[in-house]
Amino acid sequence: MSHKVLIANRGEIALRAIRACKELGIKTVAVYSSGDKNLKHLKFADETVCIGPVSPLESYLNVPAILSAAEVTNAKAIYPGYGFLAEDYSFAEKCDESGFKFIGPNSETIKMMGDKITAKNIAEKAGIKVVPGYKDALPEDPEKIHAIANEIGYPLMIKATAGGGGRGMRLIENKDQLIDGLEVTMQEAMNAFGNKVVYFEKFISDPRHIEIQIVADGKGNAIHLGTRDCSIQRRHQKIIEEAPASDLNSESLLNTLNSCLKLCEDINYEGVGTLEFLYENDNFYFIEMNTRIQVEHPVSEMITGFDLVKAQLKIALGIPITLKQSKISFRGHAIECRINAEDAKNFTPSPGLITKMHPPGGFGVRFDSHIYSGYEVPPYYDSLLAKIITVANSRSSCIKRMTSALDEFFVEGIETNHSLHQELMHDEVFGKNKHTINYLENEFFKNYE
Ligand code: ADP
Repeated sequence: MSHKVLIANRGEIALRAIRACKELGIKTVAVYSSGDKNLKHLKFADETVCIGPVSPLESYLNVPAILSAAEVTNAKAIYPGYGFLAEDYSFAEKCDESGFKFIGPNSETIKMMGDKITAKNIAEKAGIKVVPGYKDALPEDPEKIHAIANEIGYPLMIKATAGGGGRGMRLIENKDQLIDGLEVTMQEAMNAFGNKVVYFEKFISDPRHIEIQIVADGKGNAIHLGTRDCSIQRRHQKIIEEAPASDLNSESLLNTLNSCLKLCEDINYEGVGTLEFLYENDNFYFIEMNTRIQVEHPVSEMITGFDLVKAQLKIALGIPITLKQSKISFRGHAIECRINAEDAKNFTPSPGLITKMHPPGGFGVRFDSHIYSGYEVPPYYDSLLAKIITVANSRSSCIKRMTSALDEFFVEGIETNHSLHQELMHDEVFGKNKHTINYLENEFFKNYE
């Protein structure tokens, strides 16, 4: 294949994308900010272009600079990764207009699914259960708003239709908080997303976060890679993910998986994607769809042997998915620990020079990371340093393998959340898979010194 892809991202996902491109014989262009000259993947890319100063707005979010880098290097397609411009429909549109293939769904699909109310409506049409609530335009009259809220019941969530990254959500515990909470959330949504439309959702008090990975080629072929459990979260940010999610109601699961494939068919989805659910009392309640690769994609890869990033590239090249769902076998269990440059106790960011580090290795251990001894972690970007992934025959063996991998791993010079992961691997509730999305913050941290 004589193609060339520009990778519009940094860190571990940029390296991941280069590895996949190399396997497919695709040439790569890596772009970087002036604060990122020492990023590992720059050494492995065929070409590199500096696209601006350290500020993300002037570099990784700088659309004209990225498009000109693609132009001068004669790249044919742009790989967005996650974060930055990955779910920005106007970027996908501009790529298209400038003659570059955006590697992902088309801009209309990104726009449609990026609007949470529209996404919920589409999910419902495909037969997926959504979190109960109210998603029509809210009336002006406070009395009527109260009546709607009473019908849903308290506590409830007010959510911005354009929200994301854990922002644009507010918990309303009783009727006295409703009208003020509504005004503030709308104002915040307007400021953060330029869209003040909000909707109401029943607050699901103690669910697990379960998601389903799908892959579709926009030509009528869609498959799923099963579930992931991402319930170990702090401030709605995932810390540990695993595949498959254990102890799910098999009938609900089967129905939901089939409905997810139906959704791909309904919207003629192209690319990889994730449908996210809150799971409680045997029910899956859809919350949103991410139209991009996710940080936690390796756990699904490790239990299926299916390379999701290569699939993204092949789909973008117009190659149909020939693999049938029945041919996908799910084997064993995989866990991913996200190692962040932050203090393990108080979570303050900890950028700086890595004086020494050692990656874990061995049978069933995968280390997706851009860090090395002598690398200086810049303070301007996401704190993700490394993803340690282990795979084994069962969940309990996988936890043991992760424990050993974590024991081998060390980073010196900066603080990381490494020890938090070590403690979680020994935690009884996690070990028994009894945790929900509230466990880490409401219970585990109470005993965490
Ligand atoms: P974002 O797009 O900002 O990530 P999501 O809608 O995916 O927002 O929700 C993120 C997290 O917020 C969920 O994983 C869950 O922890 C919490 N959450 C969202 N909606 C609800 C709800 N209706 N009830 C309880 N928790 C919720």
